[in-house]
Amino acid sequence: MITSKTKIYGLLGYPVKHSFSPLIHNTAFTAKKIDACYLCFETKPENIKEAIEGIRALNIQGVNLTIPHKETCISYLDKIDKDAELIGAVNTIVHKENKLIGYNTDGEGFSKALKEDLNFDPRDKTIFLFGAGGAGKTVGISLAKSGARQIFIVDKNKKKAGALAENIGKNFPCTAVELTHSHNQEAIKNAHLLVNATPIGMNPDDNLLINPVYFSQQLLVFDLIYNPTETKLLRTARKKGLKAANGLGMLVQQAALSFELWTGEKAPIEVMRKALQNK
Ligand code: NAP
Repeated sequence: MITSKTKIYGLLGYPVKHSFSPLIHNTAFTAKKIDACYLCFETKPENIKEAIEGIRALNIQGVNLTIPHKETCISYLDKIDKDAELIGAVNTIVHKENKLIGYNTDGEGFSKALKEDLNFDPRDKTIFLFGAGGAGKTVGISLAKSGARQIFIVDKNKKKAGALAENIGKNFPCTAVELTHSHNQEAIKNAHLLVNATPIGMNPDDNLLINPVYFSQQLLVFDLIYNPTETKLLRTARKKGLKAANGLGMLVQQAALSFELWTGEKAPIEVMRKALQNK
């Protein structure tokens, strides 16, 4: 029941109609008996400044941000935390004592999912990363922060790949970074983890990003895509007997971290995961 005391949270994005975030967060609020409601606010890029001001003006308690606002929102916030600054993107705003504070829970969400779904610790490991866009940047920084020894980056957009390599090189000098291509057989053979942070695989007709004959038996595969739940890449890896996970765990974990920042309560992760799986 929505009352005059109900707290409002939401998602700013464009488009937002496809989002699972209302389902995840409203399920969590109900499970924890928190009088709050999560809505989608379809916000055009040119209106982001007014939308952020609206959070303060309307006393909205917090929001998530998705494409295309994760970077552009930053200049309208009072403060951003260290992870968000490193990644250069905010996916969560907390409105507290009239201050808007930006966080990035995607990176930690990815780390947690990697541990939970693949029992993988990036420390001293070699990673082959496809994609240096919004998600790839977050993943690359998170892996370097966790002590990865070497990250190979493949992206058809050379500018984005170069910017990510430069960011990691500057902030995490102990992690070696190399821009490469999908036929670097030696690098894939030696990799412990392959991550797909491109949209390739969302469409069942998409080609595989990489030739699976290069896969070694030590390789783990993490595909950030969660819809479909099993991409061609995941199916191929599993057929070869490799452990592989989709992006559902990351989606749940980043949402749980946002929930905890907003409410100060432990997120009901299993309830949130189940709601998504059922959907
Ligand atoms: P994005 O910002 O568009 O980045 C994708 C990057 O991949 C771009 O740099 C793109 O280059 C590059 N790319 C596209 N096709 C490629 C190919 N064949 N080979 C190499 N590079 C290629 O997208 P994003 O926001 O990072 O999202 C990427 C994927 O991650 C999406 O499927 C999204 O659903 C998923 N995701 C999942 C989660 C989760 O919680 N599980 C969170 C965020 C994102 P161009 O710029 O030239 O196109």
